Amino acid sequence: MSLLEVRDLKVSYTTRRGRIEALSGVSLALGEGEVVGVVGESGSGKSTLGQAILRLLPRYAHIEGGEVLFQGRNLLELEEDEMREIRGREIAMVFQDPYSSLNPVMRIIDHFSELYEEHGAGYTREEAAKLAGDILEKMGVPREKLLEYPHQMSGGQRQRVAIALGLALNPRLLIADEITTALDALVEAQIVDLLKEVRHTFKTSILFITHNMGLVAQLADKVTVMYAGKIVEFGNTRDVISSPLHPYTKALLASVPRIGGSKELQPIPGDPPDMRSPPPGCRFHPRCPLATEKCRSEEPPLKLKGDRLVACHYA
Ligand code: ATP
Ligand code: MG
Repeated sequence: MSLLEVRDLKVSYTTRRGRIEALSGVSLALGEGEVVGVVGESGSGKSTLGQAILRLLPRYAHIEGGEVLFQGRNLLELEEDEMREIRGREIAMVFQDPYSSLNPVMRIIDHFSELYEEHGAGYTREEAAKLAGDILEKMGVPREKLLEYPHQMSGGQRQRVAIALGLALNPRLLIADEITTALDALVEAQIVDLLKEVRHTFKTSILFITHNMGLVAQLADKVTVMYAGKIVEFGNTRDVISSPLHPYTKALLASVPRIGGSKELQPIPGDPPDMRSPPPGCRFHPRCPLATEKCRSEEPPLKLKGDRLVACHYA
C-alpha cells in the first residue's frame, strides 16, 4: 500500500476575476520512505496540490472531487480536529518562506514548546529544550540558537529551523514546497544535502515540490511533471531524465542550467495558459512544437507506457 495516494483530485479557486481550476484531476502515489518530486512551471498547481493534501487551502478554494488517501484513510473526509492531529504529527509541510512557519516575535525554543504542547506531548520545559536542541543539531544548527529570534539567523539557518520544526514530531511525510527557492545556490545545495540525510536518518517520505528539475534529479526517486493543473508525466526520476516522453518534460529538462556546460539555458517558448480558460485538447498544445489537429481538439489521457505514465498523443 502506498503511504499517500492522491486520486483524481480537482481543486478550484473562486476569484473576483472568475473561477480558476488549479487541479483538474491529479493522481499520484508515494510509497513509504520514497521521495517524489513534483515539478512544473509557475501556476501549474504544485502548491495547490501540497496544500490540498493537508487541507490548508484558503476558504475560497474548493475541493471539487477526488480522494487523498493517507495510510488508507481519506483525509478529505476527516473532521477538522482529526486533521489537526495529522498535521505535524503525521504529515508536516515546509514552505519557501520560513517565516510562514516561524513567528518573528517568538524565540526558536518557544516554537518547539508550542508544537509539543499542541500535540499533547507533555514534556517539561527542560525536556522540550533538550529534544528541540537535539533535532536542531541534527539539522546543522547549534543548539544555542534555540534562544534566538528568527531574524537573528541567516536565511539558510531559518530554513533549517523550519525543517527541524517540521520533523520534530517525527512525521511519516514531509511536504517541501520550494524550500530552497529563496536561497542562494550554495545554501540551496546544502539544504538538498540535508534532505538526503533526513530521508536516510528519519526514513521520512518527502513530497518535494520545485520548479527545478536539477534538484529533482539529485533527490527524488520518482517525479511527477505538472502542466496547467494536470499531470503530464510520471515515472522513475532516472528514466524520466534520460528519456523524457512528454514534449513538456523535454522542454523543462532543456531549461535546466548545466554547471560548467557550454549549453545555453533554453527557456520554454510561450507562457503557461490563463487558468480561467485553459486551451482545449492538450493544454500544452499552443507551446508544443509537435502539436497536430488532434492535440488541439482531443485531450490526451494519462496512459501507461512501460512503467511510465504519460499524457501525450504522440509519446
Ligand atoms: P509557483 O511555482 O508559482 O509556486 P504553483 O505550481 O505552486 O506555482 P499554484 O500556486 O498551485 O501553482 O497555482 C495554480 C493556479 O491556481 C494558478 O493559476 C494560480 O493563479 C491559482 N491560484 C493559486 N493560489 C491561489 C489563490 N490563493 N487564489 C486564487 N488563485 C490561486
Ligand atoms: Mg507554488
